[in-house]
Amino acid sequence: MIDLPGAGFRSLGQPAARRMALRADRQRGGRAILVHGPSGAGKGEFVDDLLALAFCTEPDASGRPCNACRGCRDGRARTHPDLVIGSPQAWREQRGTGESIVAAARRWLLDASGAPVVADRRVVLIESADQAGEAVQNALLKTLEEPTDRHLFILVADEPARLLPTIRSRSQALRIGPVAHAELARHLVEARGLPRDQADTLARLASGLPGLALGYADRTDLLEWRRRTQTRLMDLLGRGPADRLEAVRDLLDEAGPLAAGQPAASEEEPEARTPAAVQRAAAILVVEAWLALARDLAVAGAGRADLAPGTELTPDLGSLGARIGPERLAGMIRLLERIVDGLRDNAASPRLALERAMLSWPRTGS
Ligand SMILES: [Zn+2]
Repeated sequence: MIDLPGAGFRSLGQPAARRMALRADRQRGGRAILVHGPSGAGKGEFVDDLLALAFCTEPDASGRPCNACRGCRDGRARTHPDLVIGSPQAWREQRGTGESIVAAARRWLLDASGAPVVADRRVVLIESADQAGEAVQNALLKTLEEPTDRHLFILVADEPARLLPTIRSRSQALRIGPVAHAELARHLVEARGLPRDQADTLARLASGLPGLALGYADRTDLLEWRRRTQTRLMDLLGRGPADRLEAVRDLLDEAGPLAAGQPAASEEEPEARTPAAVQRAAAILVVEAWLALARDLAVAGAGRADLAPGTELTPDLGSLGARIGPERLAGMIRLLERIVDGLRDNAASPRLALERAMLSWPRTGS
């Protein structure tokens, strides 16, 4: 396991962003930080750490955030008197009668640039900064251009490309990305009390994004579906082509509602979820569950059941995996990987892709 800098941080992973934040803290100058990364990556938790760091009164910089002082506590609770929080949505709601959102944002920015009362500087946190229109961003840019060492601006954005280049160039960008699989799985065990195999599966399923993984953890229907699908696939090992082709339709039908209700990979175009897109997402879910099963069978069949997350659900994975044999499983894993890539690239028909996989799924005989 890699050694993470910043012992007082409570968010997961992010060694590079932590290092940059700690360095910026040691300089304690007025500056702007841009925290960006995909939805579900844990930007909110990282900002909590930044707020604790900014308000921490521990004199020794290497011990910050100490998580014991008043500054840390109030920073994390977002109740510190020197913290002001705004967002395009809040400015829209705060508009006076007949006032434009730009005017409301300017008024807010003017208030926000007042002097700190308790700490040595004020922290101005702007959530969803990338959702601000150009005029509001220009007002923000003006504020960022005024020299100050008594203000720290923290901008949060899913998509930094939607910010003015001049805002980006005035900010230090901290990217919040996927967390190492083992660390995320451990967190799911601790935070949700999940069994290790499920935590493992979820971490993999969420591609390392903690928010997404926790969302899955709260959706037990997805886990139950996965177990059902994998059981069905194991049963199909003993069946012929007719049963297999018939199963393709069932598998797609069952995964459809889950795929439709899944948090979209991109929030950008929710309208892109057409029936065809849902069917594609359903096929990807099926193939991912299948791939996980094939990998577990291969690992368990080779005598390493301890490394196969699915073993806790199906104790005889080992004997089944051994019966199919490592070569056939390796071939199947390669095929499923190609199929899932093709589905993601929109290059394959979901139905045909699953039929192809089904006919290549080894036959164990009865
Ligand atoms: Zn502290």
